[in-house]
Amino acid sequence: MEGKVNLLDLSIEDLEKLFAEMGEQKFRAKQVFEWLGRGIKDIDQMTNLSKALREKLKELCYIGKLKIINKYVSAIDGTAKYLFELEDGNVIESVLMEYKHGFSVCVSSQVGCKMGCKFCASTGIGFMRNLSPGEILDQVLSIQEDAGKRIGHIVMMGIGEPLDNYDNVIKFLRLVNHPDGLNIGFRNISLSTSGIIPGIIKLSKEGIPLTLSISLHAPNDEIRNKLMPVNKKYSIDKLLEACNIYTEVTKRRITFEYALISGVNDSDDNALELARKIKGMLCHVNLIPVNTVAGVDFRKSGRERIEHFKNLLQRHGIEATVRRELGSDINAACGQLRRSIMEERNKN
Ligand code: SAH
Repeated sequence: MEGKVNLLDLSIEDLEKLFAEMGEQKFRAKQVFEWLGRGIKDIDQMTNLSKALREKLKELCYIGKLKIINKYVSAIDGTAKYLFELEDGNVIESVLMEYKHGFSVCVSSQVGCKMGCKFCASTGIGFMRNLSPGEILDQVLSIQEDAGKRIGHIVMMGIGEPLDNYDNVIKFLRLVNHPDGLNIGFRNISLSTSGIIPGIIKLSKEGIPLTLSISLHAPNDEIRNKLMPVNKKYSIDKLLEACNIYTEVTKRRITFEYALISGVNDSDDNALELARKIKGMLCHVNLIPVNTVAGVDFRKSGRERIEHFKNLLQRHGIEATVRRELGSDINAACGQLRRSIMEERNKN
């Protein structure tokens, strides 16, 4: 596909420009965009374009296609984890989950990650590159096609730091939300960040009312510095200030993700300090029993400890829930599969 443009990377406006340059009419853009949203993978399937126009389009463009190299389906809850190969041979993961409100896909935003969080499976394998808007979109299209389910929700919690690939992620969000495309409402999309402050402020001004999740995981800089290197650049107090700006501008409630690690961040004092720090904010805390990752000796907090931590937060006026674990038998937590594949490849 050397030198050709992946049609999935293009917005309707980009397509209009392309057709204008080809000396074609503007309405062609909408036609092509609608086909792409239906998940077709061959320009010849665009039957409302003449054969001649399809040939012309094929000279300049192609439709990107992720290759499913593996799929693991949980016997417990039907969660399906997909391992995709990109055109350049890189591998990414995405997960299909079923909730009461329908089907949701967890997408990756980068090949690898630069953030280096100590508890995360994506750490240690290194960062390769950003995903293009079309490569992020194609995770949703390919899963929708393979599973035969209509996807109504998206979570950007796969591999990568979405706000470290800001422009491509914003373009993806607008593509997937477009009424002539998949038409997934912004309110049905969550984006999780490790806390890149300039990205949070910029995002607040985009007019994209998604749900922002912040990977907090600690009530103070001392603990957070040890878990998440990003905290050395953007400290907790500055991060919470940015969150307040975000909620003020967007009027949207923020979710704080807090993975409970036994003996590290799960004491009563930690809960009380967290409650004091975020009291009065338009927020909600999502407690997650940390997933164990090979080579990292962090242990999950026990069920009782988690309940107690939650109760302490609630008693101090903080809304808190414990995240349901999905796909626990298939390593559905992101990064784990890619990590095992990369380790296999490195061995060979
Ligand atoms: N880079 C973004 C999004 C990817 S991680 C971010 O940091 O938010 C998605 C979520 O999974 C984050 O909240 C992250 O902290 C969490 N996570 C990563 N590894 C985990 C683990 N081993 N157990 C529980 N949650 C984990």
